[in-house]
Amino acid sequence: MTGESKRKLLTIAYWVFLSYIIAALVWWFFSLYSQNMAMYRLRREHLTTATTSPAYSAELADIENTRRRNNAKYIGEGGTFLLLILIGAVFIYRSVRGQLRAQQQQQNFVMAITHELKTPISVARLNLETLQRYRLDEAKKEKLVNITLQETMRLDSLINNILISSQLDGHSYQAAREDLSFSALVQDVTQQFAGRYTERRLERSIEDDIDIHGDPLLLKLLVSNLLENANKYSPRDRPIYLSLQRADGRTELQVRDEGPGISHDERKNIFKKFYRIGNEQTRKTKGTGLGLYLCKKIAEDHQGRIRVENNQPQGSNFAVSFPA
Ligand code: ADP
Repeated sequence: MTGESKRKLLTIAYWVFLSYIIAALVWWFFSLYSQNMAMYRLRREHLTTATTSPAYSAELADIENTRRRNNAKYIGEGGTFLLLILIGAVFIYRSVRGQLRAQQQQQNFVMAITHELKTPISVARLNLETLQRYRLDEAKKEKLVNITLQETMRLDSLINNILISSQLDGHSYQAAREDLSFSALVQDVTQQFAGRYTERRLERSIEDDIDIHGDPLLLKLLVSNLLENANKYSPRDRPIYLSLQRADGRTELQVRDEGPGISHDERKNIFKKFYRIGNEQTRKTKGTGLGLYLCKKIAEDHQGRIRVENNQPQGSNFAVSFPA
């Protein structure tokens, strides 16, 4: 059974079950109510005392009181049960929906990861076999070596993302905290990026002498994930802008692109683990949905905040701000 049909079946079962419970409660209420009214009528008919006797009005008041008390009890109990059932139903609905979504995202992740791991290995193998078998001229050799290197680096960053996010989640990551030059670290990552994507225009504005206390591996991963995303999600002929500067007593890193941007509705979702915008069947870009989740975790681990805004005239602007 596919995930979608399982979800439909569970939804139908849930609504049928909930309607049954509510219908049973309503039926219970009306049967008690009519029982109470029947008792009331019966007691009144059997009230034989002379209507003028002082005992008559006392007995009548007692019958009326009993009817009112019982009705109030049924309404109170019924209302409480109904409220509890509705609270429980909302709770179950939300947690089951969350679980199904997480399950679906994990399936997508496994599919994506299988593909992401196989592609660079196949490409590297094919390139190395070609180099081994044929005598190629220097230009062709260099091209194959460059492609292989790129694929290896992609594999490396993919594996880093997976390993580090699972270590951070499991609190087993041994962070190496040190005072370091953030300016030099960002410069370093952008140079590697520019070397890897030679055709992409990268406009940098990196202020000198910005220091940070943190883990160099995690911070490099943060910057490179943002750059990789800007590269992946924006047209090849559009530039990517990176800036690092001090602003209002904080250090602000911004990576801007001229891609499709991110809608307001999706902004809170994209930092969730395994979350990828759109549909797995129609999506063209490769990815695992771990990059921004990690970026947020790393930023927070360094007392920073990450946010996404519109870039002008178009695209997205991922900004990470750290205490100076
Ligand atoms: P991945 O890129 O592996 O799918 P991420 O966690 O890095 O996972 O990103 C989550 C989602 O956010 C992506 O699937 C993509 O839809 C969206 N996204 C991330 N960066 C950008 C960007 N610069 N422009 C447009 N969409 C983006």
